[in-house]
Amino acid sequence: MVSGLIEKYFRYNRLPHIWCPGCGHGIILRSIVKAIDELGYNKDEICVVSGIGCSSRAPGYLDFNTLHTTHGRALAFATGIKMANPNLKVIVITGDGDCAAIGGNHLIHAARRNIDITTIVFNNNIYGMTGGQYSPTTPKGEKGTTAPYGNIDKNFDLCELAKAAGATYVGRATAYHAKLITELVKSGIQNKGFSFIETVSVCPTYYGRKNKKGDAVNMMKFLKDNAINIKAAKSSDAERLNGKFLIGEFYKSIEPEYTDEYNKIINIFQKER
Ligand code: SF4
Ligand code: MG
Repeated sequence: MVSGLIEKYFRYNRLPHIWCPGCGHGIILRSIVKAIDELGYNKDEICVVSGIGCSSRAPGYLDFNTLHTTHGRALAFATGIKMANPNLKVIVITGDGDCAAIGGNHLIHAARRNIDITTIVFNNNIYGMTGGQYSPTTPKGEKGTTAPYGNIDKNFDLCELAKAAGATYVGRATAYHAKLITELVKSGIQNKGFSFIETVSVCPTYYGRKNKKGDAVNMMKFLKDNAINIKAAKSSDAERLNGKFLIGEFYKSIEPEYTDEYNKIINIFQKER
């Protein structure tokens, strides 16, 4: 942790965190806090909301306005918060199971509305906290507690899903690419609309162990060796791209934001009364 960030943004009495040794989540959280610090917001301007899962422990460590909600419902709570106080910078921290399975419906509708919420998914390809069940991002053929012979479901591409549903800012980074996480989160927060940032994490305890991915160092090396930035990918041949996955800023557009549109309706209503 960069000197000063812990003192400034973390709840001392909640530390040390209880993520497993080698878990990628701490790197991602540090990168998010760095983005907020670099944007220079007052702590009271930020509200961080989570659901349930290993990733969703994050707000409990942070000294912003924070809310730890129920499984899959972080975006529903965050929508209420944003509607009640559009001036808040609302950030949702969620996991792949929380966001794309249990909360999948909330995700597509928050994106469709283009409500000004920055959603950051800690994608560890499995349900970590609840014991290693396969999730909508567990790759086909990989194992989980509930898929001991291999998952037969096709996995979601979360960024494609969010973009198709209407998100106006979409990007992906990994726990290895900490600086990129900070850049994407800064841009996501500054986007006036629904921003979706997937951060590929590492879970050596469940996903790694069940799928013989080696230790945390091996898993981080996999991210380093197999992620390719979309800018570099544009000038790469098919052979170099084979088996790789893309990171970087994928999509941005300017479209009407939900709370702005809602407030216009409220103004019309009040004038006509
Ligand atoms: Fe991290 Fe996995 Fe441990 Fe959860 S179970 S804290 S995701 S390593
Ligand atoms: Mg998960």
